[in-house]
Amino acid sequence: MVRAVFLDRDGVINENRDDHVKDWSEFRFLPGAAGAVARLSQAGLLVFVITNQAIINRGLVSRHTVDAINQKMTRAIEQLGGRIQSVVYCPHRPDEGCACRKPRPGLLLEIANRYCLNLREAVLIGDALTDIEAGRAVGCESILVLTGRGPEQLALATASGKSGFTVARDLSSAVDLLLSQWKLEYEVIKAIS
Ligand SMILES: [Mg+2]
Ligand SMILES: [Zn+2]
Repeated sequence: MVRAVFLDRDGVINENRDDHVKDWSEFRFLPGAAGAVARLSQAGLLVFVITNQAIINRGLVSRHTVDAINQKMTRAIEQLGGRIQSVVYCPHRPDEGCACRKPRPGLLLEIANRYCLNLREAVLIGDALTDIEAGRAVGCESILVLTGRGPEQLALATASGKSGFTVARDLSSAVDLLLSQWKLEYEVIKAIS
């Protein structure tokens, strides 16, 4: 059984910037994040990155530039032995009302369709409640990390009584959590079969 992990990009893999990542020179990996992606792929999981990039249709950057940033990120992770299957993004502005801007699950559905994935077996890791909501809409297990917008988003969730997701310090601890959980499940299945 192939399992998939969906990662948000800004605030999970790299530092979030209030003025957005508009060029590779503005892209900074968060500590341990690239290595954490590598551990996921080495455990046999398919890793996808799904990201809202409204800066494209706001006219701040071209698709070409966003593609180049994603490609460099992917290469850097490959050098650590990781593999990102695909990076998909929503280029739309919020006012365009598209089906792919998170919290809508369009990007997740597109990938699930293309790779024949069971989303109920998948996990989504994000630093915003909009990520968590997108995951929940399709039955993914969701983890909120406390990097990027995470702390502010957790406070928001607590204030409004939102729950139903796991919280992890950062991507690296989220990956530790998942891998130990899955190892346990595997051992249970082996023990009873
Ligand atoms: Mg984010
Ligand atoms: Zn969109």
